[in-house]
Amino acid sequence: MPEVTSTEPAIDGWFAVDDAGNPHLIGSKCPACGTYVFPPRENNCPNPACASDTLAAVPLSTRGKLWSYTENRYPPPAPYPAADPFEPFAIAAVELSDEGIIVLGKVVEGTLAADLKVGMEMELTTMPLFTDDGGVQRTVHAWRISS
Ligand SMILES: [Zn+2]
Repeated sequence: MPEVTSTEPAIDGWFAVDDAGNPHLIGSKCPACGTYVFPPRENNCPNPACASDTLAAVPLSTRGKLWSYTENRYPPPAPYPAADPFEPFAIAAVELSDEGIIVLGKVVEGTLAADLKVGMEMELTTMPLFTDDGGVQRTVHAWRISS
């Protein structure tokens, strides 16, 4: 494992961290009909009844209710990064409290499917995904059980 020299998001533009260190997801909102989208994009409102072709970047709720979940018990195939040795991890689908859209994410280490229950309050955090050859630790948004 290379030594970690800095930390960067694995994917640019999906979340931001405020001055207090709290992350929030970045989504898109249609200015014409109010529909929210995640991951963010600049155009193509998904509402079939809306003709708007511009979406604006907006911060999304950092909390929501657990809508569904699963547990990965096998490592993903290359080129997807996986811990070695592989540790099972949970994936959560969380319905954001204000927007109502469902956002998938890994669940933090130490929380598996047996710990989860549909309807639970979840909150956003971030976690390391892998460290690249240049020593950059790549992070992703993740869900944890709300404290
Ligand atoms: Zn729209």
